[in-house]
Amino acid sequence: MGFQVIDLTTVRADTPAASRGVFLDSAGSSLPPDLVVDEVVGHLRREAEVGGYRAAAERADDLDAGYGVLAELLGAEPDEIAFTDSATRSWLSAFDSVPLAAGDRVLVTEVEYAGNAIPILQRAREVGATVETVPSDEAGQVDVAALRELLDERVKLVSLVHAPTNGGLVNPVREVADAAHEVGALVLLDACQSIGQLPVRADELGVDLISATGRKWLRGPRGTGVLVVRRAVAERVRPRLVDLHGGEWTGPAEFSVRADARAHELWEYGIADRLGLITAARYALDLGIDAIAAEVSARAERLRAGLSGISGVTVRDLGERRSGIVTFTVDGREPSDVRARLAEADVTVTTSGLTSTRLDMTRRGVTEVVRASPHYFLEPAQVDRAVDVVAGL
Ligand SMILES: *Cc1c(COP(=O)(O)O)cnc(C)c1O
Repeated sequence: MGFQVIDLTTVRADTPAASRGVFLDSAGSSLPPDLVVDEVVGHLRREAEVGGYRAAAERADDLDAGYGVLAELLGAEPDEIAFTDSATRSWLSAFDSVPLAAGDRVLVTEVEYAGNAIPILQRAREVGATVETVPSDEAGQVDVAALRELLDERVKLVSLVHAPTNGGLVNPVREVADAAHEVGALVLLDACQSIGQLPVRADELGVDLISATGRKWLRGPRGTGVLVVRRAVAERVRPRLVDLHGGEWTGPAEFSVRADARAHELWEYGIADRLGLITAARYALDLGIDAIAAEVSARAERLRAGLSGISGVTVRDLGERRSGIVTFTVDGREPSDVRARLAEADVTVTTSGLTSTRLDMTRRGVTEVVRASPHYFLEPAQVDRAVDVVAGL
C-alpha cells in the first residue's frame, strides 16, 4: 500500500466535463468518468439488442464480482454487501430491520439527516420508543463523552452521520461504535458524504451497518446505493420486506430467507446502473482512496482559505477533521442568489437548507448555506476561479 499520487491530466481526460466550467457539486451528484457512462449506456444498448434477461446473463460474472469490489472498498466481505437504488433505500431497509419496542431508545447526532430523522421519529412514535440527540462538542462533532453518559441497555440504535450534508466536519466513528457496543446498541453509519472521498471501512470503523450512495463522491450513476450488513449482526437485523430474491417459497405455506446482506435486495434493479456503480467503485480503488482523500482535502482547504480572505464571506464548517464539503454564507445575499450568480459564471455549487439538517442548523442559527464540494479532478486554478467569482459578488 504505497502512497499513490493522482495524475490530474489522466483523471481530467477521463472526465471531459471537468474542463468545462468549475464543478463544485460532488456532494450533490458528481461528474462520472467516461468509463462509467460508457458502461451504463453500453449495457442499455445491449438490452435493446438482445433483451434485458440475455443482456444480464452475459454480465453475470461482472455483476457477481461487484460484491467483491464494493466489499474491498468498504472493508467488508462480499456477503456483507447489498446493492440498492439509493443510500436512503439502504438506510431504510437497515433501520426498519432493527428491532425496536416500547421504552427503547434511539440516539441521533445533531447533524442527523432529514431522510433518516423522519423515519426514526415516525417509527419511534409508532412503537413508543424515544429519540434523543447526542450533543456536539466544542469543535462541532459528536461529543463522545456525552454519548457515553446517554448510553444504557435501552439504547438499541445509534444513528451516526459520518460527514454531514451541510458542513465540512467528519464525525469520529470508531469511538462512537466502541461506546455503543458496550451497551449492545447497533450502530448504523450514514456514509453518504464520505464514500468515495474518505476511507470508509467497516472493519476499521467497527460499525454494524453502513448506507451509502453511488452518485456523490463515488462518481457512480444516479439511482444507485449500497448497504453493508456485518455478518455479526445479520441475524439481528432481518428485513421485513423480502421478495423472491431475498427469500424462497419452499412449500405452500413455507418460505426461507437468505441469511446474508442480500436479503435486503429486491430481484429487480437497473442492471446498467449497477454495472456503472461497480465501475465507479473500481475506478476509485484504482486511484487509491487515501490519494483521493488527500487531493480532495487539499482543494477544500484551498477553497476555505480563499473564501475566508473575502470580507463579508463566512466559512461555516465545523469539526476537528474536515471533509471535502465547504459551506459558506455571503453577507446581504441569499445562498440561492449566490448559487445563481455563480452558475452564470459557470461555477456549479448548491445550497443546503434548514430542513435537511434541522437540529444542526437551528443550533447554529443558520437557515441556509452555500455548499461547494470540490473533487480531485479539479485544477487548483479552478478552485481559485471560484473564489474570484465569489469575491466579485
Ligand atoms: C445525500 C444524503 C443522503 C441521501 O442519499 P440518497 O442517495 O439521495 O438516498 C443521506 N445522508 C446524507 C448525509 C446525504 O448527504
